[in-house]
Amino acid sequence: MKIAFIGLGNMGGGMAANLVKAGHGVRAFDLSEQALAAAREHGCETFTSASEACEGVDAVVSMLPNGTVVKSVYTSDVIGKAPGGAVFLDCSTIDVATAREVAEAAEAAGYAMVDAPVSGGIAAAEAGTLTFMVGGTDDAFKRAEPVLQGMGKAVIHAGQSGNGQAAKICNNMLLGIHMIGTCEAFAMAKKLGLDPQTFYDISSVSSGQCWSMTSYCPLPGVGPKSPADNGYQGGFATALMLKDLKLALAAADTAGVDTQMGRRALKLYDNFNSETTGQSDFSSIIQMLLPAGQDLSN
Ligand code: NAD
Repeated sequence: MKIAFIGLGNMGGGMAANLVKAGHGVRAFDLSEQALAAAREHGCETFTSASEACEGVDAVVSMLPNGTVVKSVYTSDVIGKAPGGAVFLDCSTIDVATAREVAEAAEAAGYAMVDAPVSGGIAAAEAGTLTFMVGGTDDAFKRAEPVLQGMGKAVIHAGQSGNGQAAKICNNMLLGIHMIGTCEAFAMAKKLGLDPQTFYDISSVSSGQCWSMTSYCPLPGVGPKSPADNGYQGGFATALMLKDLKLALAAADTAGVDTQMGRRALKLYDNFNSETTGQSDFSSIIQMLLPAGQDLSN
């Protein structure tokens, strides 16, 4: 297939490279010359505008920072520029309302469109092991699926347009909440004189077990290798967790759902983000939750 790829940043760069590896012809565009140079090294053809990249393609994939950028790129440079009948796949994490609005505008102009946000970070984008949660009609999903399979290990249809984004923000709100809960439990265990490894051995096979503990433990030296073992570098940045919690809470307000734990997680990540660069992994919030002076190492 001929595929336009717009947004070749931390995530999009690896995803576009995997589409090339899967045998697609990739026409790439980004505002950054550095990102374009890296894409060329991975076998993409690069262009100086999104509309040029969209010429003659069967599909357009985007991986952009936020809903405002997604709306502006699609309305100015993709809709009406890509050949009629092409399928659009926005893999960015954005708000449900904008995802639905852009898809409606695309469909009104004769295109098919899905929102297909991802679970998995930069390493999964490079390895082609992302999970895609996809919102859109059955027909749009069928057409998008082969493109997404070249970039991920799982592609799941979540229902109507916007439902991919809904799944993403509900999942990440839960992730933010259980990461904070896990950090609090380890902090308290240490303060009560319980060895963190012993607490892990017990809780990881008891009812407190969760992904934040057994796959992504926020304490170094405990559980499988995680960003904590690498000084909280790499992984999923605190600023991105904060972005997703803001999207989740905005959606909760619109839907009239009282997500009190989600609101608390947002407040804590907001405080932590404002005291740091926001670039370290989101599990580093344990540094704020541990009692002052308490050693992180096991
Ligand atoms: P990034 O900032 O590294 O990349 C975004 C890219 O978009 C940049 O290269 C930027 O130059 C480009 N861009 C911005 N405006 C543009 C425009 N008008 N036209 C063309 N290109 C434009 O961000 P990222 O980490 O790759 O994240 C991308 C999306 O993926 C975000 O929505 C993010 O929330 C989501 N996401 C990120 C991660 C992660 O771990 N980084 C994980 C899951 C989801």
